Parts: sequence; structure tokens; C-alpha cells
Amino acid sequence: MAIGLNVTEPEEPCSDQNCPFHGSLAVRGQTLEGTVASTAMEKTVVVEREYDVRVPKYDRYMKRRSRIPAHAPPCLGLAEGDRVRIAETRPLSKTKSHVVVERLGGDE
Ligand SMILES: [Zn+2]
Repeated sequence: MAIGLNVTEPEEPCSDQNCPFHGSLAVRGQTLEGTVASTAMEKTVVVEREYDVRVPKYDRYMKRRSRIPAHAPPCLGLAEGDRVRIAETRPLSKTKSHVVVERLGGDE
């Protein structure tokens, strides 16, 4: 099922209601890229993003990091170190309102 994003759909099916491909979860807003930092939770991964913020006073860039908890549908088979694309969705739990929509590759 198409989810309205230009992503590669997973080959394996799954029975997760909160899977954007095989369930009924709608995605919206922007997509972000990051690296899977933790798979310790059930059906949730922590996606870490590193970005540069310009500091005008010194005309340099400062590294910043953000960690976003995201729902991981079982059909994607995610592992720590995977590059992934996530999309915003409705709040799925107290801290979770993103879902992984694509696995971009393994460890770099
Ligand atoms: Zn699925």
C-alpha cells in the first residue's frame, strides 16, 4: 500500500496495526534521516541525528545531536547502526510520534 512518500516498501509483510505499509498508520509532515542508536525497546528504536548549528559570534559550526524515539515496524528488520528515514505520525505513546519508513542501509 502506498503511504504517500517516495520510499522503498519493505518486502516482508507484517501484522502491526501501527505499520504505515501493512497497518493503518498515516504519516504526515517532513521526513528525517538518522542512525539507529538503540533497539532495546519492543517495536521502538531511538534514532540519532547529528547536525551543525552555526554560531555567528565565532563564525563556526557547533555539533548538535538529537535523539528521536520512533516506532519500528517488524517488517523493516532494523538493527543498531542502520541508516533510516523516519516520518512524523500521530502520537503513538508519551514520547513517540515518529515512525521508521525506510531502511537506507546498514553500518557505514
Ligand atoms: Zn509492516
